Amino acid sequence: MDHFLYRDGALFAEDVPISEIAAAVGTPFYVYSTATLQRHFKLFDDALDGTDHLVCYAMKAASNQAILKTLAQAGAGMDVVSGGEYLRAKAAGVPGDKIVFSGVGKTADEIRTALTGGIRQFNVESEPEMQVINAVALDLGKVAPITIRVNPDVDAKTHAKIATGKSENKFGIPISRASEVYALAASLPGLEVIGIDVHIGSQLTELEPFELAYTKVAELTERLRSEGHNIRRLDLGGGLGIPYTRSNDAPPLPVEYGAMIQKTLGHLGCEIEIEPGRLIAGNAGLMVSSVIYVKSGEDRDFLILDGAMNDLIRPAMYEAHHDIVAVEEPAAGVEQRPYDIVGPVCETGDTFARQRNMPPLKSGDLIAFRSAGAYGAVMSSEYNTRPLIPEVLVNGDQFAVIRERPSFDEIINRDTIPGWL
Ligand SMILES: *Cc1c(COP(=O)(O)O)cnc(C)c1O
Repeated sequence: MDHFLYRDGALFAEDVPISEIAAAVGTPFYVYSTATLQRHFKLFDDALDGTDHLVCYAMKAASNQAILKTLAQAGAGMDVVSGGEYLRAKAAGVPGDKIVFSGVGKTADEIRTALTGGIRQFNVESEPEMQVINAVALDLGKVAPITIRVNPDVDAKTHAKIATGKSENKFGIPISRASEVYALAASLPGLEVIGIDVHIGSQLTELEPFELAYTKVAELTERLRSEGHNIRRLDLGGGLGIPYTRSNDAPPLPVEYGAMIQKTLGHLGCEIEIEPGRLIAGNAGLMVSSVIYVKSGEDRDFLILDGAMNDLIRPAMYEAHHDIVAVEEPAAGVEQRPYDIVGPVCETGDTFARQRNMPPLKSGDLIAFRSAGAYGAVMSSEYNTRPLIPEVLVNGDQFAVIRERPSFDEIINRDTIPGWL
């Protein structure tokens, strides 16, 4: 369920008509629903009720500070994967002791930034990284809390580009080497080993791979404890999938995921952390675009939009499906026709959908991409010198622009011309 519904023949975001936002900010734009963000966070928080836990929103999914603040006020911590994300979370008012630092290539500068500003823990992904965290911590006269990310070698059964838990992936250390690596960590005076971290991929639509991984984490917890490590926190990563279509089988619910966590890990008495991103933000956002032209081709018709692959790259990058709907609700029984729905960028990859049935549309009509809240705005670029599109947050009957569309001057003036030209 989300808060983007038709009312009296028009698509709304909560209590605001999409057409009203479009008139105010122009298209294309992203729009997010506060109520949906809050609801999705609460589903996870409630799913772990009764267990000491923290839901750390994986902010790479959608990192506008207004979104971070909305979730932080609901009680979320943050999972960051770069120094920039760390600073952004801090700027949104998230305290360091609720920020977890993940990612396979943290630099010494990023580590220093986080240790100086305060950090809940680093999720360490390799021995060389462990040595650098130790060195930076000693240099600052601090002790860095760490977990070590283990790679459980399970098949997440998701798109290859977002599977992270197989031994051939670049992430974590092999679980078979855990004893050795934990012993090394324990010997380094700048580190305090507090737990284990695992994250096997994104858009998982079954619980089974999680359960396999978490069962291995449970065994590892007992083994490491018997080797003298005080394992007291388990970071279980993110990755629970969302329905991208209304018709297909729904992925497991957070409540089912939470019950499985309690079943596989509850007996260990550890504090549980989870890092959902997509499930919190994905269905909390739309990308709204206008039809520029309806073009009749030789064997097919095209809807050419003012939104493009640089604004929403998921279809081009992951062959991802987004439901695409007309903002003006089609009359009941109206005949739908197949279109290729494309952007204006000069690449055939700039295709959002092929032969998608749509109601009759004309130049200037508004359409909305559903499930665009996660890995949408954050992955956008200014390819073709197309300005980053605005982001808007709705809350009940109010809306606010939370990132402005830059002017062409701002974009063009970012270049500097060397003196010899
Ligand atoms: C991407 C990522 C997440 C979030 O994954 P979702 O599929 O968006 O829930 C969580 N933790 C880590 C380490 C990640 O890289």
